[in-house]
Amino acid sequence: MNTSNAPTAGIARIGDEPKGGSVLGFYAPKGSARPPRVARGEGVFLWDANGKRYLDATAGAVVANIGHGNPRVLAAMTEQASKVTFAYPRFFESEHNIALADSVCALAGDGFDRAFFVSGGSEANEAAIKLARQYAVVTGQGSRAKVISRDPSYHGSTLGALAVTGDANTLNLYGPMVRAMPKVPAPLSYRIPDGHTVESHEQACADALEQTILREGPDTVLAFILEPIGGLSTGAVVSSAAYFRRVREICDRHGVLVIFDEIMSGAGRTGAFLAAHHWEGARPDLVTLAKGLAAGYTPLGCLLAPNRMVDAIAGAGGFVHGHTYFTNPLSCAVARAVVDEVVRQDLVTRARDRGELLMARLRDIASRSPIVGDVRGKGLLTAIEIVSGKAERSQLPVAFNAPARLTEHGLKHGIALYNRRANLGAFGDFQMITPPLTINEAEIDELADLLEKSLADLADEIARKGLAH
Ligand code: PLP
Repeated sequence: MNTSNAPTAGIARIGDEPKGGSVLGFYAPKGSARPPRVARGEGVFLWDANGKRYLDATAGAVVANIGHGNPRVLAAMTEQASKVTFAYPRFFESEHNIALADSVCALAGDGFDRAFFVSGGSEANEAAIKLARQYAVVTGQGSRAKVISRDPSYHGSTLGALAVTGDANTLNLYGPMVRAMPKVPAPLSYRIPDGHTVESHEQACADALEQTILREGPDTVLAFILEPIGGLSTGAVVSSAAYFRRVREICDRHGVLVIFDEIMSGAGRTGAFLAAHHWEGARPDLVTLAKGLAAGYTPLGCLLAPNRMVDAIAGAGGFVHGHTYFTNPLSCAVARAVVDEVVRQDLVTRARDRGELLMARLRDIASRSPIVGDVRGKGLLTAIEIVSGKAERSQLPVAFNAPARLTEHGLKHGIALYNRRANLGAFGDFQMITPPLTINEAEIDELADLLEKSLADLADEIARKGLAH
């Protein structure tokens, strides 16, 4: 096994591939440098085709919760693939669908009796919004169709999920094609408005929710959707129990359903199976999961719902929604093996404990780095905020694209850092630090060391370009 950090040889360019190209040809300008070509993964590491090793510090796109190459999951995958890979769920039940739903609902706890499996996060949110709507219709509340969401937020890239996503940059492009839904501010913890404390800002955000419901007309509002702990939209902002309690009270008062988008925060990443479990009063009606649920071994998303909603809809003719690949037997078998590993290795507790260690390392880095303004998060869902000056919390120019620059420095040093810049950095430039939940203490030290080197290169570049404050 080659574990060296030797530099990748030869720079290939986008556009020099054969006909068909790669998906990168859709994103990166022709002629730009190609990223390393992945060859294999094991544990918290990935290797490229030249044998260079990278520590997967963000579990890809916050996905690979149980690490790469888990032999138990690979065995379950092979076994199911040799039996049957596809049977349409309206004609055939699957043993793995039933067992997976049972395990996930048990881990999700009270209020979650049923699981509906799809192929990813955006599909899970589409299913949540549609289930909420159909429930309203079958219970005589057909006027309810608006889904309030937060600004900033990210709920996916399909048109329905985009309608509730708080990202002005994306909505500038696709907004005219969707019915953009009402937005309320998401509580932030580092860039709070002048004259506010974190607590008063949270309360003002909750007040804005109630005002928006009243302004829109309570009998037209179907649901409020939120990421209980922010992903790339806010960079792992964690709000207080008081905020979640107030949200629940307001929504109860006006008959509005609460949907937690736990696509990034769920499946154990924050040190609880659902982030909702951290706050007793949160009590969401619906929860969506994806990413870590199948941990990258198969594309999978999930909607968790209570009996009262599913039974009302089933009794009125059934859920008017579905996809070809929903509840695919191969995906359910693989995800079942992943969830079994989460339980067997007690990864939820490990996320909590290792998260404390990681946060301590990140705070050390922040105390030494001139460009790390904030460290935040819960469990192993953490982020650092990159600034041009710490005293003023000043932001770097949009054109500089600090997260993308950090990714490039990281690849040089053998650390893989996923980035997707929300809102063109208007709410800050964040770097998520979200390694697999299986990461051990020595690997956390290595992660911190490689990250600090990459940040030092970024700080040099910022100074060299005259952008430091
Ligand atoms: N919701 C949140 C909070 C996410 O982080 C993501 C993906 O990053 C999504 C929804 C969309 O999931 P997917 O990319 O699997 O469609």
